[in-house]
Order: sequence, then C-alpha cells, then structure tokens
Amino acid sequence: MKRVVIIKYGELSTKSDNINFFLKTLKNNIDKKLASFDYEIKYDHGRMLIFTEDISKVKEKLQEVFGIHEICDGFLYEDKSLENIKVNVLELLKTSPFSSFKITVKRSDKNYPGTSITIAKDIGAYILKNIPNIKVDVNNPDLNVIVEIRLNEVLIYGRGVLGLGGYPVSTLGKGLLMLSGGIDSPVAGYLAIKRGVKIEAIYFDSPPHTSPMALKKVEDLARVLAKYNNTEVKIHVIGFTKIQEEIIKNIPKNYLITMMRRMMYKISALICGSINAHAIINGESIGQVASQTLKSMQVINEAVKMPVIRPVCTYDKLEIIELAKKIGTYDISIRPYEDCCTIFVPEHPVINPDINLAHEYEKLVDFDNLVYEAIKTRQILHISEKEENNFKDLL
Ligand code: ATP
Ligand code: MG
Repeated sequence: MKRVVIIKYGELSTKSDNINFFLKTLKNNIDKKLASFDYEIKYDHGRMLIFTEDISKVKEKLQEVFGIHEICDGFLYEDKSLENIKVNVLELLKTSPFSSFKITVKRSDKNYPGTSITIAKDIGAYILKNIPNIKVDVNNPDLNVIVEIRLNEVLIYGRGVLGLGGYPVSTLGKGLLMLSGGIDSPVAGYLAIKRGVKIEAIYFDSPPHTSPMALKKVEDLARVLAKYNNTEVKIHVIGFTKIQEEIIKNIPKNYLITMMRRMMYKISALICGSINAHAIINGESIGQVASQTLKSMQVINEAVKMPVIRPVCTYDKLEIIELAKKIGTYDISIRPYEDCCTIFVPEHPVINPDINLAHEYEKLVDFDNLVYEAIKTRQILHISEKEENNFKDLL
C-alpha cells in the first residue's frame, strides 16, 4: 500500500491528438513547481500519480498549476483481488466517523470480473455488515469512496479538491502581456495563462514622471502571475518617456491617448517578434475609458498586424475585481502609484477617433526613430515566484 496524490486532467483529456505533448508539458510544469520536494511521478492517459511524504503541501502547490481538474489523495494497492479491496475500504472507513456512504467503482481494467455496479454493491454490502449504524446514501453521502480498478493497481480515495482547470502552461504558445500597475491587466494575464499560453510581460516606464514604486508594483504583480506561469515572468521594461513627451508636445490633446497607445502596440509587436510570441495580451475592457470604445480599439489596433487578445474585454469592473482578489493581485494593484497612462490624461480624450487623422498626426513626429530608440532602452527583469531568484539580464 502506498499513499498517493491523484491528478485528474479534465479538459485536457479531450485533446486526443496531442495528449502526449499535453501530459509531458503538465509533468514538466509540475516538476518545476515541486522542485523543493521529494516525490516521484507516474502517469498515463487517465491519471497522474504523485508519490510523496509531503501530501498536504504538495496538494497546495498543485492548486497553482493549470491543466488539473481535480486533486485527490488516497491509497494505491497492487493486490487487485475483490477480497483485498473490500478489506482495504473497510480499514480506511474505520478511521473516520460517518453515518452515510457511497461506493463508486471505476473499472478501467476491462478484464476485471463483474461490472462497476456489481462490484460497488459487493463492497457496500461488506461495509454495511462490518460497521454498525450506517447507511448507503447515493445522493448526499457523508463519505464518497472511489475505487478505481486499473491495469496494474487499485486506487482508493475520497472527495478531492478542484484544481485550476485550463491547459498546461506552454502548450498553446507564448503571448506578451501589456502589464500596467492597474487591476485589469494582471487578471487578463492570468486568464491567458489559464488557456495554456506562457506569458512574458511588457511595461512602459516613464521616469521621472512615474515613480520607481510604480515599477516595483508591476514586479510584485508579475511575481503573483509567476506562480501560475510555470514559476517565472520576464518583464521587458521599455523607457517610454521620450515618446510621451514628444506626443504631448506635438499632437492635439484629444488624440494623446490614441497616439500613445498606438506606439505601445507598435513596440509590443516588435518585442513579440524578438521573443517569438504570437499575440499581444492586454487588460482592455469595452467602454471602460475613452481609449476602450470599440472605435478607439479599432483605430489603436490598426497600428499592428499582431493579434491582440483582450481576455477581460466583456467583463464588468466588479467581475474583474472579484477575480483579482481571488488570484491575489488586487491588494497590489490598488497601491497608489500612477502609471504613465494616467499622468497625462487629457480632460476630453476622443472616444470616436478617426483613423485618417491618426495617420496624419503620426507624420508630425519621427515615430519610427523614437520607437527604435525606445526598444534600445529595454531591460529584461526575470521575476520568479520566489523573490530571491530574481535577476536582470545584462543586454
Ligand atoms: P489596468 O487596470 O490594467 O491598468 P486601465 O483600466 O488602467 O487598465 P488603461 O490604462 O487604459 O486601462 O490601459 C489599458 C491596458 O493597456 C492595460 O490593461 C494594460 O494592458 C495596458 N497598459 C496601460 N498602461 C501600460 C503600461 N504603462 N505598461 C504596459 N501596459 C500598459
Ligand atoms: Mg492602467
């Protein structure tokens, strides 16, 4: 008999053509997450099994890994005889008080004698005979005992905890998250990671107009996302001061934000090219501010060919806040430091910008050169879920 943590894959199991790639990636991601533990992993298309002494801590860590539907802990037995299963279920049930129970049998060894139902009835009858004052309740039992008869072993376990769902990080490519210090963009990043996208982040920094504390806030947000993003988020920090100052000097006030955001998109698309990312991800939400009307998004989006994914575009602010609280970014996001988009906001930004005007205004400044110069300022910060592992690239 061995203690075992059992992982159920959920949505993953529908990816029949790629299942080996998905499972191998999930295993690699779990290996990285559990690096400081002693454990062993075995897996097949049905289940992943983890053998360890640190059951509860390992279970906690697994709740930060995407691609897992449910995490259960239980016992593995090599002796598959029905007699042995009955005795073992009885032994396990004797350890906790309960008044009703249910036995669920899953029989992936199709040569095993009987059907799932007859086996479950057999085990149930044995339990009723040996423990007084209990009953079977199939709808709302105190204890639901699951018995899985697999090819080489039997697993016995109870109710599990839900995992995060989604797909294993890195199974669906890489995206570049525009990460500001606000509430929306970290949530957008989390939702993209959930769909198997590995993210890197880009932050537009405008010293001295923004304080170093604004960057620190972005680093702290990235550290929370690193937990879900296979333990690290790289932040590409871009000096945006010069572009902003030139826009403020040369562009009509009501188009400041439109032009600033077109430049952010252009730089993001170029960084995507350099890191082999397939999409830009950001925290825009329809109607939230002037630059997020559909018309504004269209005019801003026109600056790039790269797909722009907006995971929270249909969410209400309250829904975004709720998720931010759940994933642990909210308290960081509400720290008071302003980012570069909020400091120069004009009173009446255009909500219905004209693409031709945007093109005209773009000719007023040598943006190609400014973008080139901005990219040269790039610094790459490696933000790990463990602060002591952080470092900065020497470019
Ligand atoms: P958030 O709460 O995510 O900051 P917001 O409501 O403040 O969003 P905006 O400031 O208009 O909205 O920004 C929209 C999106 O553009 C942000 O969600 C983020 O993805 C991106 N963005 C804004 N400012 C920056 C920045 N300084 N660096 C990187 N990305 C940014
Ligand atoms: Mg913002």
